[in-house]
Amino acid sequence: MCVICRQRFSKDELYRFTCPVHGELTLTADSTGKTPGRGFYLCRDAACRNKFERFKGWQKKCKGVGHVH
Ligand SMILES: [Zn+2]
Repeated sequence: MCVICRQRFSKDELYRFTCPVHGELTLTADSTGKTPGRGFYLCRDAACRNKFERFKGWQKKCKGVGHVH
């Protein structure tokens, strides 16, 4: 499911991101789709990609992962 528009897509239609592990302020793009840990999915819609740049909903969910406090 896309975290922005909350519509369901098949996995090959979604970009996957994982929590940053070194305290970065952006999610880590998971190009392999196999990185362990909490995943966030983004669809290919241009509007969703724009909103995703300002999406902060992951920060709470990534607390306790890596060095995010
Ligand atoms: Zn979307």
